Amino acid sequence: MSKIKKIIAYEVIDSRSFPTLEGRLTLDNGIEVVSSVPSGTSIGKYEAVELRDGDDNRFSGQGVTRAAGFINDLIGPKLINVSPSKQIDIDNWLIKADGTNNKSRLGANTTLLISELVTKAAAKEKQLPLFRYINELYHSTYREEITIERIPSPLFNLINGGKHGSNNLDIQEFWVILSSNYSFGKAYQMGVELFHELKEILNSREVSTTVGDEGGFSPSLVANIDALEILSEAIIGRRLKLGLDIFLGLDVAANYFFHNDRYQVRDIPHPAKPSEFIEFLNTLVQKYSILVLEDGLNEDSWDDWVKLSNRVSKEIYLAGDDLLATNKEKLTKAIKMHACNTIIIKPNQIGTISETLSVINLARKNKFNYIVAHRSGETNDSFIADFAVGVQSDFIKFGAPCRGERVAKYNRLWQIEREELKI
Ligand code: PEP
Ligand code: MG
Repeated sequence: MSKIKKIIAYEVIDSRSFPTLEGRLTLDNGIEVVSSVPSGTSIGKYEAVELRDGDDNRFSGQGVTRAAGFINDLIGPKLINVSPSKQIDIDNWLIKADGTNNKSRLGANTTLLISELVTKAAAKEKQLPLFRYINELYHSTYREEITIERIPSPLFNLINGGKHGSNNLDIQEFWVILSSNYSFGKAYQMGVELFHELKEILNSREVSTTVGDEGGFSPSLVANIDALEILSEAIIGRRLKLGLDIFLGLDVAANYFFHNDRYQVRDIPHPAKPSEFIEFLNTLVQKYSILVLEDGLNEDSWDDWVKLSNRVSKEIYLAGDDLLATNKEKLTKAIKMHACNTIIIKPNQIGTISETLSVINLARKNKFNYIVAHRSGETNDSFIADFAVGVQSDFIKFGAPCRGERVAKYNRLWQIEREELKI
């Protein structure tokens, strides 16, 4: 196995026009890989810390030169002559070097960049497609084989609200979810056609068709329910049957409108008590064939999560994102309490690929569903697409089929389906 010769890191600009970290790793046999890390906007308070410069004279404090400096001056030189096949050892060394329980010393952006570069370099050295190498890495670490047989079903985020929209809707993400009977290629085609159908509907109502952070439309509507109505109309326009060929889903991202133990959304004329908001969510689930419901409640309201879980149909995927923060302790608690049945997996919430795989292992051992997700701030790096295929997540969440940084991931999935899985 070749050894690491050089690692460098530098700033690039992400899809939200903020700096993020990119890096290049060179092996002594000349193999070179490049990777960049994503960044969230609606960040849960239990996520690992992203290191930003805080220097107001550059990029309003959002620069990442300190993180790049850690890699260029400290971490990179220490990894020279180490084999990239040592993913777990390298990640464990990073965790130790950071020494905190939330990566607040080195930054999860710093550690994840190194971790991803190492994964990519090892895959290239072994001449394996990245998703196959990730699959092997999981297998060799946990002695459990995950058979690669499909591209995970996409959650297409066609309407963006909350922190990702233009101060329009309270709910952050409104998804269409094609039945898993469709191949990825077919679902992608249908998702794109629905995107355009929706655009026509918005145009006909003289509502703005500008897009939000994740490429979905960001219209100003009277209430959140109107977004679900418009999506239902687009589905009828495409002659699809809601609840049969296609389902809806939401990332409620409830932290955003949770104040003083009340949920404040424009569909309810007063700040709603948790019990009332749970009823509201259950009505949406039933009326609009919601299949996946993410972060329906605040990230600290564990007892209310249990109530929501008991209230909605057991058939739906009740997903914790800010609630679980890709964190093993949080997932263990959710399993014990039956607070939800699905975890959103975002490698930068925890900071290394090994830790992300260990959360997936815990989920699998407990028959807990998992959804691999991007962040609202992205680059054209498609690492996360290969990662999702390698671990065969139940769904993937990469935004709308629109904007370069989103379609880079979907197009990679399409390529894997066509060229590698030959579907
Ligand atoms: C999310 O909340 O699931 C999400 C992808 O948004 P962000 O990256 O802004 O946290
Ligand atoms: Mg979320």
